[in-house]
Amino acid sequence: MEQRRLFKGKRTRTPGGETLVRLSGVRKRYDGGTEALRGVDLEVRAGEFFSLLGPSGCGKTTLLRILAGFEEPDAGEVALAGRNMRGVPPYRRPVNLVFQNYALFPHMNVYDNVAFGLRMKRLPEDEVRERVDWALKLVDITGLERRRPHELSGGQKQRVALARALVNEPEVLLLDEPLGALDYKLRKQLQVELMNLQEELGLTFVYVTHDQEEALVMSDRIAVMRDGRIEQLGYPEDLYERPASRFVAQFLGTSNLIPGTALEGGRVETPLGTLTVSETLPAGARVTLSIRPEKVRLRRHDVESANRVRARVDDIIYTGAENQYLLDAAGFELVAYTLNADVQEPGHEEFDYDEQIIAYLPPENLVVIHE
Ligand code: ATP
Repeated sequence: MEQRRLFKGKRTRTPGGETLVRLSGVRKRYDGGTEALRGVDLEVRAGEFFSLLGPSGCGKTTLLRILAGFEEPDAGEVALAGRNMRGVPPYRRPVNLVFQNYALFPHMNVYDNVAFGLRMKRLPEDEVRERVDWALKLVDITGLERRRPHELSGGQKQRVALARALVNEPEVLLLDEPLGALDYKLRKQLQVELMNLQEELGLTFVYVTHDQEEALVMSDRIAVMRDGRIEQLGYPEDLYERPASRFVAQFLGTSNLIPGTALEGGRVETPLGTLTVSETLPAGARVTLSIRPEKVRLRRHDVESANRVRARVDDIIYTGAENQYLLDAAGFELVAYTLNADVQEPGHEEFDYDEQIIAYLPPENLVVIHE
């Protein structure tokens, strides 16, 4: 897979294709008593890169295994490409699953691993060769056909696993943390290659990850899962900019969560004083205000605006690209990130330990969470 573009960039969202995956009311309890899925409704459209994101144990893998046919749901319906999948075995489903641990056959070489599914379908050997060659070229491992899995690097093994799935031309490719075992740089490179592949071949991906950055970068839409349920489903920027719960606000990036009680006229009483938000709220409602650290503006001198809060710099973490400030605002801890730009730049300020400054929380960046 040739690395053509570093960034996918925005493309037309909401693929217009038909619904390929539909789950309604899906529940699953394992024998040990764990309720892994507690009623999941979900639709994935043709051509979509759809991610399931959530912490360990939230039910992501169970959901994929149900789609693949390795588990049957206790309740609810699963339809793939318009067909109800109840009782349909894995090999008759229009999907292929790529496992995190590759699950290659150790005694077979790369070629035979990739050819396996086609031979099971009893395709003629010349067609098998043609399709295996196509898949190996696609994932850039031509030349490694005779190697056994133990003679490959982690990245190469994952490419073989991908080729083995793609060669069957599934309508939906299910990927279970496919890059989880790879080191950071390789993961970044393969993320770009996977995105390019998905887009160029017009494939539909259901992609499981617990890495929020990976999900934000790669997906058209994301379902954030928690305890066997979908907590929030939407476009990456919507989930990031408008988290609907404290859980999503904290799981997807970092957030300052400020508890408060609504007053008249879009104002909220908080430990930081009265803050203005950009929506009106029923007076007396208990809410949480969420603001991302990069949206908190820091000033040395006071300015005329709403939501100015006096704060002391408690700690500064230098990360290279940013300075992360830990602030004490009337006993409340506030986190603010500023870009590590050139100090000569107009308006750019850096602050010292223990300095008294002004933190400005723009009303339009304060997200009201009703919980
Ligand atoms: P991870 O990111 O760690 O893979 P996950 O979100 O994929 O987690 P699942 O593997 O779907 O989560 O597991 C959901 C819940 O079901 C967990 O509590 C897990 O312990 C339980 N579970 C999973 N598989 C089984 C099984 N075969 N038998 C009993 N319980 C299981």
